Amino acid sequence: MRNGMTVDAPETTTLQRFVQSGVATAVMGELDNVMKSHNEANQTVKYPDNRPVKLSIKNLVVGYLDHQSGQTTVAVDKVSLDVREGEFVSIVGLSGCGKSTFLNAIAGLVKHQYGEIKVNDRLVNGPGKDRAVVFQKASLFPWKKVGRNITYGLELSGMKPAEAREKASYFVNLIRLTGFEHHYPHQLSGGMQQRVNLARALACDPEVLLLDEPFAALDAITRELMQNELLELCEKVGKTVVMVTHQIDEAVLLSDRVIIFSARPANILDDIRVPFSRPRKGLIKDSEEFRSLMSHVWKIIEGNANIGGGI
Ligand code: ADP
Ligand code: MG
Repeated sequence: MRNGMTVDAPETTTLQRFVQSGVATAVMGELDNVMKSHNEANQTVKYPDNRPVKLSIKNLVVGYLDHQSGQTTVAVDKVSLDVREGEFVSIVGLSGCGKSTFLNAIAGLVKHQYGEIKVNDRLVNGPGKDRAVVFQKASLFPWKKVGRNITYGLELSGMKPAEAREKASYFVNLIRLTGFEHHYPHQLSGGMQQRVNLARALACDPEVLLLDEPFAALDAITRELMQNELLELCEKVGKTVVMVTHQIDEAVLLSDRVIIFSARPANILDDIRVPFSRPRKGLIKDSEEFRSLMSHVWKIIEGNANIGGGI
């Protein structure tokens, strides 16, 4: 298996024959030739936009090789996606369709077998400071106070302690946790911990912020409040964001575009532009337009689930 290959993927059937046969590693040389003989998938720009492309993904294929059986499970199959500077893009789809795999590949935490990922035109070959990830569970250091949880990464990347403290305090204020800098994570609620997690990610000033079901572990009320907080936060900081979620309302509320993944192996079923202007308020969820867009997204997911034999 290799990472960062810049070859084009062939038709799904050919690729899956190779990969699922479990000989993908052994025949990589031959496979390279097969790949090169195929033309790049046609990628049309669905929504013209003058902003520069921040994150570019072309023909991405990610599979997991089971070393015992030699079989490979293809999770992401030839996905191409451009995300522009300042855009908030959500990925929605059935559980197990490949959303987290896709996000982890962008984060450089999972290797892709084919295709390419570029941030600011630079190939992604592993984790890097240009991307920050927030997972479902707040991954704070339990022995460090809130402030230190944020400054730690900044200092590791070479920032002077005083500057790191100043930055941490700015973001603690932004997530409305001023006064909690000296609390340990266990002294905070789940929602507060996840806010610290967000602050820590944003303080690193990544080119792209990656969120994997950031509120899935929270209760319904906190989740609702956190969606509004994130909406406000993202509008303030203007980051380029890719968020994975299985909550359609969350995706529609927060995003400029909602990308719908098929059942596994994931490819893009649709790329929908969310028409609501910004700044937005959580209240738009009550509108007829919001509900009708949610139902449109759901019908596409449901239709694909039925084709694929159910959930
Ligand atoms: P989602 O986030 O959409 O629920 P995932 O990306 O986690 O889906 O998983 C997609 C597919 O890849 C699933 O079939 C899952 O079992 C498989 N998978 C995920 N992680 C691994 C792993 N580390 N090793 C093997 N298979 C995995
Ligand atoms: Mg997941």
